Amino acid sequence: MALGVSGHSHADPRHLGLAAQGAPMRFPAGWALLQHPVHGAVLFDCGYGAAARTAMQRGLRRVYRQVIGACCEVHEDPARLLAARGLRAEDIALIVISHFHPDHVGGLREFGNARLVVHGDGWRQVRRGGFLRLLHAQIWRELLPADIEQRLQLLEPSQARALPDGLEAFGAGWDLFGDGSVHVLDLPGHALGQVGVAVCVDRAGDSSAADPADRSGPGSAAVQYDGAGEAAGATESSRADARASTRVVLAADAFWRREQLGDARPLPWWTRLLAVHDSAAYEDTLSRLRAFRAACPDAWIIPAHCADTIAAWEHRHPASVLRGDDARGASPA
Ligand SMILES: [Zn+2]
Ligand SMILES: [Zn+2]
Repeated sequence: MALGVSGHSHADPRHLGLAAQGAPMRFPAGWALLQHPVHGAVLFDCGYGAAARTAMQRGLRRVYRQVIGACCEVHEDPARLLAARGLRAEDIALIVISHFHPDHVGGLREFGNARLVVHGDGWRQVRRGGFLRLLHAQIWRELLPADIEQRLQLLEPSQARALPDGLEAFGAGWDLFGDGSVHVLDLPGHALGQVGVAVCVDRAGDSSAADPADRSGPGSAAVQYDGAGEAAGATESSRADARASTRVVLAADAFWRREQLGDARPLPWWTRLLAVHDSAAYEDTLSRLRAFRAACPDAWIIPAHCADTIAAWEHRHPASVLRGDDARGASPA
């Protein structure tokens, strides 16, 4: 598994109830790349991208850009970051969309072949439309591919099933491929129908199929990331250890900074007004994430915008964060 960063924005830490005062914090627009042995490259969100950059040049989108200091440079576009790692945009078979905010779907139009997996409630909100309603919900329809309806796979609450051991805190969810490798989690509150994803990774950071015995099979890790070197010269027991998997929950905007998971202080009212669709659901989702962390203290919980969490992941799995620095000069496939 790799994390990607396509653009960033800024916010005052007081808006998250984190500090009495302080300089604006930088919030990377994070997303993730998973490799499935059968279904190939899968994305969870895609950050800002070319369409968001264009949209932010005019009108109210320009105000958005100025208010939160949003930026995504060409060399940070998700297709470019993937190209720098040898992956073509047209080879992305599936994208799980956490929610429809521009910092999560701004790059969507770069992936013309991908099936788009989204919560039914989130999609119905987009379809219902209405200028003011979409403006308040921060949904920019111009970012969405023209053929999105033909490519959607909706996650409906009626199809959600009990999650496997270790994920009980999240209630019901969706087994994305029916093989137990990727579970989609209901994380409502910040946005209507927000979802996250749970996968297992080995010590090298590669996302694994349900059956660990399949890990060496064809198609596993078409993109190799560093960290696999940990197993070099390994003994049998350390090789087994290298295969041991760690759970990762990609939490989108269920919270924004890792301090928030440990800090039970409520969000200031103005943040709830502007950045939370349903306050009770937001708190409930945060409680579930805290319960999960208490039950699985070794698991990674990765929100989309926490620079420190992304840095910690990069420290643990070197070269498994896709950033613009790697993609300068790489042309998108
Ligand atoms: Zn959001
Ligand atoms: Zn976001």
